Order: sequence, then C-alpha cells, then structure tokens
Amino acid sequence: MSESIDVPKINLAFLPTPLEALHTLSRVLGGPELWIKRDDQTGLAFGGNKVRKLEFLLADARENEAELLITRGAYQSNHCRQTAAAAAKSGFGCKLVLSGGHPKDVTGNLLLDGLFGAEMVWSGERDPEEVLVETFETADLHGLKPYLIPYGGSNELGVYAYAKAMEELHLQDSSFDRIVFASSSGGTQAGLILGAHLTGFEGDILGISVDEKTSALQARIANLVNSTAQWLGVEFNIEPDAVSVDDGYLGEGYAKVSNLEREAIRDFAQQEGILLDPVYTGRAAGGLMSLIRRGEIEGDERVLFWHTGGTPALFVYGEGLIVR
Ligand SMILES: *Cc1c(COP(=O)(O)O)cnc(C)c1O
Repeated sequence: MSESIDVPKINLAFLPTPLEALHTLSRVLGGPELWIKRDDQTGLAFGGNKVRKLEFLLADARENEAELLITRGAYQSNHCRQTAAAAAKSGFGCKLVLSGGHPKDVTGNLLLDGLFGAEMVWSGERDPEEVLVETFETADLHGLKPYLIPYGGSNELGVYAYAKAMEELHLQDSSFDRIVFASSSGGTQAGLILGAHLTGFEGDILGISVDEKTSALQARIANLVNSTAQWLGVEFNIEPDAVSVDDGYLGEGYAKVSNLEREAIRDFAQQEGILLDPVYTGRAAGGLMSLIRRGEIEGDERVLFWHTGGTPALFVYGEGLIVR
C-alpha cells in the first residue's frame, strides 16, 4: 500500500495474527480447503477485530489531546469491551453507552467492561445514538476532553485498519478464492475490500450479515470504502451491488441464538479446538458451512474464514450448547 499516507497508530495488537489450516473440518465437510485467520487472537483482553481499529482510533484520540473515550454498543458489545481495555492500557478514561437497561447478570463482556474501569451509561428506552451524542456533549461541556469512537469503530480509521490487515494476509498467503466472516457495522468488510484492491486480491469477500438486510449493509459498506479511499487519496470507488453480503442467516435477529450457531460452535470446538462466539462468528461459520453443504461454495475452492473474536459472549449465551 505504498500509495497510502502514513497513518499514526499505537500498538495494541499482537500482529500478525496466525493463519492456520482447518484440516479436520475440511475433511469432515468433504468440501473446500478451509483456513482460518485468527483475529480472535489479537491479544488485548480476549482479542477480536476491534483491537486493530482501536490502534488507529486511539492514536487519533491522542493526537487530538483527548482524555476520555466514548463509544456505544449492545449490552454484550465486544467493541465496548475492547475499547475499555484499550483505554485502560493507554491511559484514557472510558465511557460506554450500552443499549437497554442494566441486566441482572453482570457477565461476559459486561463484566469485563466494569473490570477495565469503564463507566456505563444505559440508554433505556431511548435511541442509543442520541444518548451517545448527548453523553459526548455533556463531557465536552465539563472539559473532560472526550473523543467519540463511532459504532463498531467503523469510520475511515477503522476501515484503514482492515485494509492493513489485508496487506498482512497478503504477506502470509493470499491465494484464497473466498474470505468469509461476520459483518455488522461494516468497517471490517470495507477495509478488506479496500485492502483487496490495494494488494490485488481477486477472491470473493463475503460478509455474513448478523443483524441487517443485504441492501442496507451493502450501502453502508460501499460508503465506507469510498470515503476511506478518498481520504487516503486512492482512486477507488464501488457501487453497493459490488459488495458481497449474505443475509440468509439472520434467523430471529441479532443475538438470537439458534441451532445454526450452536452447531457451528460445536463443530469448530470439537473438530479444531477453536472457540467461536454465538452472536457473530458462530452465525458466520454456520452460514459458511451451510453454503458448503448446499454446494454454493464448491469443493475445489480454497476458503478463508476470518475469525473476528467475540468469545466472552459464549458464557452469556451458553444455554443449549452442550448436548447430552
Ligand atoms: C464487531 C464484530 C464483528 C463485525 O465487524 P464490523 O466491522 O462491525 O462489521 C464481527 N465479529 C465480532 C466478534 C465483532 O465483535
């Protein structure tokens, strides 16, 4: 990516993350040659994909002389947990706007948010984005030097982080026909698409949507790709239609765990000793395996599953995982 500008970053992640072959799972499925990119092993606080984005977001916060990081997410947000940990490590305060009301059980990511010393604001019945903006403005008014990290860390800096991740993959092995992963706020997918353009990767970059219809997610991702390319001075512009999204695995909706996710979690655990999460990677892996079984992903392909993290949520949504 020699044409890109030098974007400041702070080191938070263990990089490069490992790239491993999934020998047993490939054999059991009798399908394509499966590989996995372990961004669940980015190192900070149980890892995950947000750590890569936070390296650039926190560098920007520091450049802006901010002292308090503010972001938002679901009550079991992996993004919030990684932000809280990054804030603790880098000497920022952290305020999290979490959707809904305070739950009875403080476990999984929510337990870790508290452990990292983050302050929680519950949005209750209100629109969480509205509460986020209000929280930021109040902090600003009180001179707390807040820095707003967008939902999922998905702005130009977060996208750039995943363009760099694609460059990292390129140096490891990029002869894949397809990359499959969980897609939500879109920064990861936008970055992979931009990185593919910059490194000459020609395979399919398929996001399995975890909470939105295809057209809405495609539009957001195309916007993120185009605005980031423009920001970097890279000539690249895509239409929403060019973004590969599959919304066929939404089931009952976001974080509604079904047998699709449970079976994928069990398969990865029992064939490979790898932990997936119930909300994102379990759904994406379930989608991947279903596409393989239906022959939509063919047996002669080389397929990379990009693990995006989320494993602390296993302890929240564990019901029905173990079959006896
Ligand atoms: C946030 C998250 C995603 C989605 O990444 P986006 O960049 O928001 O699309 C996928 N998997 C896990 C575990 C996540 O926490």
